[in-house]
Amino acid sequence: MQGYIINLNKVKDEDLIVTILSKGSLETLYRFYGARHGTINIGFKIDYEIEPSAKSTIGRLKDVIHIGFKWINDYKLLRLWQDFTGLFYKHLKDAEDLGSFYFELLDNASNEWNKQNPKRVAVESYVKLLEHEGRLHKEHYCFLCSREIKGDISLIRAYLPTHYNCTHTLGIKKEALNELYENHSTLFLSDKEVDRLWSVLMEGL
Ligand SMILES: [Zn+2]
Repeated sequence: MQGYIINLNKVKDEDLIVTILSKGSLETLYRFYGARHGTINIGFKIDYEIEPSAKSTIGRLKDVIHIGFKWINDYKLLRLWQDFTGLFYKHLKDAEDLGSFYFELLDNASNEWNKQNPKRVAVESYVKLLEHEGRLHKEHYCFLCSREIKGDISLIRAYLPTHYNCTHTLGIKKEALNELYENHSTLFLSDKEVDRLWSVLMEGL
């Protein structure tokens, strides 16, 4: 099987509880420490097998092969990737029937990660996620005061639209947001706007 590691918890000694997002499910598995094992980390894509355990409700992670990204040695890119993929654990840990959407979203994002500003890839991916979950607010009404937003739009967590005067966060051009929502493209957003959308994303999915 293949999947993305989205959470790691150290248990006794060097053993780990590993949460993996695979195509269709979220697996929580136990990994015994072994000096011969390669290092695994959040965000890594791995190929693996699950060994059921008679003593425990959680299976054992084995035969792990790290599937590297082309950009894996770029520390900056890896760091941003780990920040991004780590968000999925909190969001998905109690979900049922994931389907293949989330796995494919990360697959596509990892392929694009070094081709443009990775924060743009993350923002575009997040908009696809919001749309998939029916949470993308395309209307121009303020989440806080319910009145129409005529000028730039200030997005808060979950990309909810608000007036600049209601939240005092960076206003974003409507046309640029429309392009993002309709075509999943950050083309018309400035780097400053992308930075803002990235930091909103870091508050949680
Ligand atoms: Zn308002």
